[in-house]
Amino acid sequence: MTRLLIVGPPGAGKGTQASRIAEAYGIPAISTGDIFRANIKNETELGKQVKAIVDAGDYVPDSLTNALVESRIAEGDAQGGFLLDGYPRTLEQLRFLDELLAAQGTGLDAVIQLVADQEEIVQRLRRRAVEEGRSDDTEEAIRHRQEVYRRETEPLLSAFAERGQLIEVDGIGAVDAVTDRVLGALAGRGLVAV
Ligand code: ADP
Repeated sequence: MTRLLIVGPPGAGKGTQASRIAEAYGIPAISTGDIFRANIKNETELGKQVKAIVDAGDYVPDSLTNALVESRIAEGDAQGGFLLDGYPRTLEQLRFLDELLAAQGTGLDAVIQLVADQEEIVQRLRRRAVEEGRSDDTEEAIRHRQEVYRRETEPLLSAFAERGQLIEVDGIGAVDAVTDRVLGALAGRGLVAV
């Protein structure tokens, strides 16, 4: 039973690392960004509600995001644990998740913070804009997402650190090398992969 979070600024490589770490632990990677993008692509009601917000690089309202995560982690595949990618991103989301897990008598085992410098990130996101064609990877939206991250999400890091949950990992380098660093750090905390 492993419950993990991965946090880091836009472009730090969270999504890539999340799927590898989740696979190593045999748990689902739950990315709120992926869920929103899938809904936008399929033109669902939720997708229509959030498209303009996501394209602009703003955060979807907490009430919507919290409800989405609550129902996702109630699904069968998440009963043995999960890795949340891109959630919680605001203090209100953190409060909600804490209450949700506490009500189940559980909590988070660790929070992985992927650290990457600004220059590297901007280059990666430019590459991704070409490769994946994400509509929120324009120069303007990228810069805005980084600002929103600094304002809304960075304050969560000190909360995780105070609880002794935070593991800082250098996100620069080959994808495999970063995965090895993360798995090594988790194993160092007694969280052993399957
Ligand atoms: P990135 O880390 O590059 O910004 P994500 O895929 O994590 O990419 O998120 C893409 C977008 O989805 C965000 O800019 C935001 O609009 C929306 N989003 C994702 N997760 C959340 C969240 N927890 N709260 C609010 N909005 C979110």
